[in-house]
Amino acid sequence: MHDLRVERTVAPGRCWNAPHPIDVSVSRLGAYCTAKSAMTNCDVAIVGAGPAGSSAAIALARRGYDIVLVDKQQFPREKLCGDFINPINWPVFENLSVAERVLAQPHSEVSGFRMTAYSGEAAETSFKSAPQRRAIGLGLRRALLDQVLVERAAELGVSIRLGSRVEGLIKTERAWRVALGTEEILRAKLIIGADGRNSWIAQQLGMNTSSSTHGRSIGFQTRLRAPGAAQGKIEIHLFPGGYAGLVALGDGTVSLGLAVDRATLPRARIDDFLFTECLPQNPHLRIILSRSERVAELRSAYPVYFSRRRCYADGVVLAGDAAGVSEPISGEGVFFAMQSGLLAAETLDQALRSGEVAADYLRRYEQACARAFRRRFILNSLLRMAIYRPSLLTPLIRLSEKNSRILSSLVDRVCQPQAVG
Ligand SMILES: Cc1cc2nc3c(=O)[nH]c(=O)nc-3n(C[C@H](O)[C@H](O)[C@H](O)COP(=O)(O)OP(=O)(O)OC[C@H]3O[C@@H](n4cnc5c(N)ncnc54)[C@H](O)[C@@H]3O)c2cc1C
Repeated sequence: MHDLRVERTVAPGRCWNAPHPIDVSVSRLGAYCTAKSAMTNCDVAIVGAGPAGSSAAIALARRGYDIVLVDKQQFPREKLCGDFINPINWPVFENLSVAERVLAQPHSEVSGFRMTAYSGEAAETSFKSAPQRRAIGLGLRRALLDQVLVERAAELGVSIRLGSRVEGLIKTERAWRVALGTEEILRAKLIIGADGRNSWIAQQLGMNTSSSTHGRSIGFQTRLRAPGAAQGKIEIHLFPGGYAGLVALGDGTVSLGLAVDRATLPRARIDDFLFTECLPQNPHLRIILSRSERVAELRSAYPVYFSRRRCYADGVVLAGDAAGVSEPISGEGVFFAMQSGLLAAETLDQALRSGEVAADYLRRYEQACARAFRRRFILNSLLRMAIYRPSLLTPLIRLSEKNSRILSSLVDRVCQPQAVG
């Protein structure tokens, strides 16, 4: 039986859980400062070195700021993700100057989309042709992608602290103090919380709502050795209560990502239930699973989806999943993360130049995200509504078996790259 590893960030024992940290006296920082504590000054401390944090770090370092990028894990690190790199990411990779390095990693090329219903229907379409590689998505392990981005940040002079969990956060009159588990204190003018869906920063600053800590579905991911599966396509297979995404990774394995309605899951032996009862309800998945072997542990994340949080406070913005997540069905999570990291960098650059770091000023970041992502958010909401309602999707799949026009135009909307500023 494989481990069920929940990727939730658990507030560590040493952290200070005061509901309104900003109002509390600086003297509390003494709890973190020991004789051994080192103090590092920086313009911006970025918590989380996933795509959101690394992209923000790259963009700010290019503008000449002193940046410290912190992650609690050592890299390269495994990351629960469907591992589909949507073609919409190319303009962002080019902007960050990492496109060639991304392509140098083991990967598979993905030029189309296939969807199956558990009643057996299957439909597929190709990505619309676009200039050069921009029509191609990738199957690429997140451990590799995130490592490429962190290396790019380091190359631009970003100070990287891996294996350093952020455990304390205090606002002083002029700066934030960020306490790392390694006994280092960062004194930063501004903070970017890019620490993922269970953001510790959002929790500390009271930016959570009940919807951002609870959700309908649980996400799972593992890798399979499944000869011949998902060749050249990202595949979505529906089953009662959820869906599975399958993409080849170019190393002889495929990534299997799941979103499963938690009401359908048993209390124990979830792993057995998923692989022997739940997924085989889709006949296409049943065949793939019968010919495959699991080569990685099953990881889990919760919640899969929540609506966006307020993503600014005095001297702080949230980026990527920390600000809000998308339903994984569209494979846009990495794009939203990197693009929001770039938008955060733009706002913080303006804030540092003008000396305006209060929440009122930083609100413009949330407005910029709303403008940039509005159409994608609407589409994502529609997809989320449909994906758990087979009565809506199965007729579309049936129709698309004969005429793929509707499916093609939907896939184009999700996968067509746009220019990045
Ligand atoms: C089942 C599933 C499948 C998915 N499939 C896809 C897909 O195929 N394609 C796609 O584009 N997106 C997909 N996504 C979404 C995608 O994984 C996320 O949107 C993306 O990882 C967000 O990046 P991020 O940088 O915001 O956060 P993350 O990648 O989660 O990075 C956050 C980082 O913060 C660090 N951290 C957390 N707390 C602390 C702390 N206290 N101190 C220091 N560091 C800390 C963590 O270690 C982590 O490295 C999927 C999501 C799910 C649930």
